[in-house]
Amino acid sequence: MSPVFRPALSCVLSVALIALAVSSVQAQAPVTYRVAFPAPEHHYAQIEVTFPDLPPGTLEARMSRSSPGRYALHEYAKNVFELAAFDGKGKALPISRPNPYQWNVTGHDGSVRVVYKIYGDHVDGTYLAIDPTHAHMNMPATLLWARGFAARPVQVTFVPPKGSKWIPATQLFSTDDPWTFTAPNLQYLMDSPVELSAQTIRSFKVRNPDGREQTIRTALHHDAGDAEVNEYIAGTEKIVREQGAIFGEYPQFDAGTYTFLGDYVPWGGGDGMEHRNSTVVAAAVSLRGPGAVLDVLDTVSHEFFHAWNVERIRPKSLEPFNFEEANISGELWLAEGFTQYYGNLVMGRAGLATRDETAAALARSANTVVSGPGRQFRSAVAMSQMAPFTDAARSVDKTNFSTTFISYYTYGSAVALAMDLSLRDRSNGKVSLDDYMRAMWRVHGKPGGAQPGLVAKPYTLQDARDRLAEVAGDKGFADAFFDKYVEGREAIDYAPLLARAGYALRRSAAGWTGLTGVDASGTITGLLAWGSPAFEAGLDQGDVIVDVDGKSLRPGALQSTLKAKKPGDRLVVTFKRRDGATGKATIAVKEDPALELVRVEASGGTLTSAQQAFREAWLGAKAGR
Ligand SMILES: [Zn+2]
Repeated sequence: MSPVFRPALSCVLSVALIALAVSSVQAQAPVTYRVAFPAPEHHYAQIEVTFPDLPPGTLEARMSRSSPGRYALHEYAKNVFELAAFDGKGKALPISRPNPYQWNVTGHDGSVRVVYKIYGDHVDGTYLAIDPTHAHMNMPATLLWARGFAARPVQVTFVPPKGSKWIPATQLFSTDDPWTFTAPNLQYLMDSPVELSAQTIRSFKVRNPDGREQTIRTALHHDAGDAEVNEYIAGTEKIVREQGAIFGEYPQFDAGTYTFLGDYVPWGGGDGMEHRNSTVVAAAVSLRGPGAVLDVLDTVSHEFFHAWNVERIRPKSLEPFNFEEANISGELWLAEGFTQYYGNLVMGRAGLATRDETAAALARSANTVVSGPGRQFRSAVAMSQMAPFTDAARSVDKTNFSTTFISYYTYGSAVALAMDLSLRDRSNGKVSLDDYMRAMWRVHGKPGGAQPGLVAKPYTLQDARDRLAEVAGDKGFADAFFDKYVEGREAIDYAPLLARAGYALRRSAAGWTGLTGVDASGTITGLLAWGSPAFEAGLDQGDVIVDVDGKSLRPGALQSTLKAKKPGDRLVVTFKRRDGATGKATIAVKEDPALELVRVEASGGTLTSAQQAFREAWLGAKAGR
C-alpha cells in the first residue's frame, strides 16, 4: 500500500508538484484512535477513530479481511456494530456500504470521526478478546482504517475499565502519557498487538557485537507464582541467546525493545504470532502445572526466530501485506518451515530438550514428507500457496487436505533438515544452515526499511536459491536442491545424512494396510491415505467394515487382526457403503512406509568420534554461557 492523494488536478502534473503533494500529506495530523472498555464483561470495545485533514470526496473506511502471519480470510467486519460517522462539527454523516468490509462516508468538512463497537472473546494471535481480566488485541481484528492513508502517522489512546489494575504492553511507540502510543504508518499499527491486563513485566538485556544493548521484555498475563515466572524468563533468555548466536547479532528492534506478550490462563486460547518487535504467545493453560513452563517454551522459540525470519528476512510476496485480500506466498516453507526447524533445534541447543528429543522432533517432519501421501500432489512451494485455505480457515464443505496436503511448517522443516545436513555433509562440517540463515539476514534482513514496518529488500524464490549457491559455493548443488526438493516433489534420502550424526532412520518392516481411523462399529471415519493399500482396494471414508476374511468382527477386533498381517499378505474385507450397497475389497498388505529414528548406540552400534562431533556441532549449544 502507498499513500493515495486524490486532488482535483489536471493530469499534467510535474514531478515536483507530486513530491510536494506527498510531503504535505505526510506532514498532516495523525489518524487518532480512542479505544475504551466500558463494560469488559460484555466483551466489546468502544472505539472512536478520527481522520483529520481529508481531501474532498468519499472516505472509504474498512475493516481488514486478513492479518499478517495468518493467511485465511477472517472478515473482521463481522463483529462491528453500532457504527456512526460525524464531521468536525459533530454532524452525523451519511454512510453507504459498497461491500461487506467497507463504510463509505460522504459530505464531510475535511474531518471524519467514526464511532463503533466491536465484539471479541477469542484469545489467540489473530482475533480480539475482551473480558474483565484483559483486553487482548490483534489490530486488524480491532481497528478500522481508511483507504489512501496508509502512510499517515497514527496515535492510539487506550481507556482501561474504571478501577481496573490493567497496565499496557505493546510494541507501539510510547509517549509521555502511559496510555497513549504512536505508530509511524498503517503497516506498523496493524503489526502491533496490545495486551492490557494486570500483567507481570520483566526484562533482560542483550548486546550486539557493536556494543549496542537492547531490552527483551516478557509481559505475562498468568495465574502462576514467582517461581514459574522465573522459570519462564530463564528459559526464554536461553532461547534468545542461542538464536542470537545463530545470526551473530540481534535485529535492531525499532524502539530498542522486543516484547513477548504471553497469555497463559486456562480460559484463554493457544497460539503464537510473530510481529516486528513483539510476539503473542498464548496457551489455554496455567503455568502452575507440572512441566507447564517447558511445554510453552517451544512456541517462544519458534516466534523469536521470526524476529529475523519473516519480520525482516521477508518474502516479497508478503511485502507490503495486503489487508484487503488473502495473501498468497510460495515461500512459507522457508518463512514458517525453517522457523519450525529452528524452533525445535534451538530448544535442544538451549538445553531445554535432549539431543534425542530434538533429533526425533526434526526427523518427524522428514517422515511425514517421505512417507505421507501429500507429496504426490504438491511441492513445498505449492503447499505454501495453500495457506489461505488451511491456516485457521473455515469451510462448510469437506476437503481432502488430510491426504493431499502437508503443512508448509512440516514440509519446510523437512527441507531445512535436508539443507542443514547436506551442507554439513558436503563441507565436512564447515558450512551449515546457520550460514545460510546468516546470508539471508545479511542480504535481505539487515538492510532494514525506510520506516518501521517496511522491509527494503524482501526476497524471491530465486534469491533464496542464489543465497544457497553462495553459501555452498556450488550453483549446481543449489539448483539441484531447489529443483528437486523445493520446487519439485522429490524427497531427499535422509538416512545417509542422519547416519553422519549417529542416527539410523529406518522402516519398521511391519505390515501396512492403510486402514486407519476405524471406529468400534467398523466405520472408516477419516479419509484413507491416497495410494495406501486400503485406498487402492477401493475402500473409502464412511464405509462400514462388516467382516475380514469371512469372519465377522467383534468391536475392537479389527486392529489386532490387522496388526498380525505381514507385507505380502492379502485380506478380503466385506463392507457396507452409505448408499446401502455391499461389496468386497481385497487389500494387498505392504511394508509400512513410516520411518523411525534410532540412536546408533541404542541399536547395538557404536557411536564413532566423527559421528559424535557431527551430532554435537548440529545439536549442541552455540551461545557462550
Ligand atoms: Zn511461525
